[in-house]
Amino acid sequence: RTTKAAELVERLTRWRDDFPTPGVRFADLTPVFADPEGFRAVIDCLAACAPDADLVAGVDARGFLLGAGVAATLGTGVLAVRKAGKLPPPVLTREYSLEYGTAALEIPGDGVDLAGRRVLLLDDVLATGGTLAAAAELFRAAGAEVVSAAVVLELSFLEGRSRQGDYPLTSVVRI
Ligand code: AMP
Repeated sequence: RTTKAAELVERLTRWRDDFPTPGVRFADLTPVFADPEGFRAVIDCLAACAPDADLVAGVDARGFLLGAGVAATLGTGVLAVRKAGKLPPPVLTREYSLEYGTAALEIPGDGVDLAGRRVLLLDDVLATGGTLAAAAELFRAAGAEVVSAAVVLELSFLEGRSRQGDYPLTSVVRI
């Protein structure tokens, strides 16, 4: 199952040099998600990372697609980790650094009881790792436990793995 997912990710990903800025090699997973076998295989692979999770969280925006698919597979709910300014207050906010400047992620500060929840955290690509680390800090601040994090594609030369906390991090494909 894992092998099939990896094979489809390797075959279908659109790589583009110098997007969105010079020097970046962008991995666009759109064709993987648009392919019925690709989407199914990736979702099953990610779901297998944390079969005991009781909440699946996906990071804005491509992580939403993964989060919804994995949550439906595991029978959990799904929580969208939003870019700043999209959710009404109160919110929990974590800033993180990008190549130029900073960005912030948010989750609701009430309405979802996160204390003691076992969260599987998902995103499409792990690059420098700041995004996933900030998302994980949000759940920790809310009293939840990130039991596992998983991405479709890990760009290992950017060493994003070294910026993560003590949760296991799985990638379908590591480059
Ligand atoms: P980072 O915080 O550096 O790990 O960046 C991860 C976030 O930016 C993820 O949400 C990715 O969707 C996106 N991203 C960063 N670099 C790339 C890349 N080379 N190709 C595709 N997406 C990327």
